[in-house]
Amino acid sequence: METIRNFFKTFLLVELVKGLALTGRHFFQRKITVQFPEEKTPQSPRFRGLHAQRRYPNGEERCIACKLCEAVCPAMAITIESEQRDDGTRRTSRYEIDLTKCIFCGFCEESCPVDSIVETHILEYHGEKRGDLYYTKQMLLAVGDQYEAEIAKNRELDAKYR
Ligand code: SF4
Ligand code: SF4
Repeated sequence: METIRNFFKTFLLVELVKGLALTGRHFFQRKITVQFPEEKTPQSPRFRGLHAQRRYPNGEERCIACKLCEAVCPAMAITIESEQRDDGTRRTSRYEIDLTKCIFCGFCEESCPVDSIVETHILEYHGEKRGDLYYTKQMLLAVGDQYEAEIAKNRELDAKYR
């Protein structure tokens, strides 16, 4: 009986008709495919992309070298060395993140008492040779300087949930 049923199913192209019916049902529906990179899906203000170091409006770097981010990082991707300035304040002499180790958990951002280290919305970056994804303090500050307006806006949007 099963053999006969399969014969007629094959003979009448039932599976093909079912497939065409499915295609037909979706043909005129709203398309959900996104033509990346020309089109992009919306991003949450909490998106965790490329890291940045921020400055205060007067240009002073925020980081006070407390090393909380280094301590909390589960991937041990952050390396910090600090020194005391002539004015008695403490600042980093070395702040590096190895993005090949980073798992983008956001713990560093959460732990920072002065909103210095943050993760931006930037997801399109890459490295072409060994060391390109080893971000130094100057590189992180440069990202922060370039995207400060967006970083501040996203943190403001997220502030009521913190
Ligand atoms: S996002 Fe997580 S893994 Fe990456 S540097 Fe920060 S704490 Fe470490
Ligand atoms: S980035 Fe924030 S948590 Fe990390 S050392 Fe600087 S002040 Fe401390």
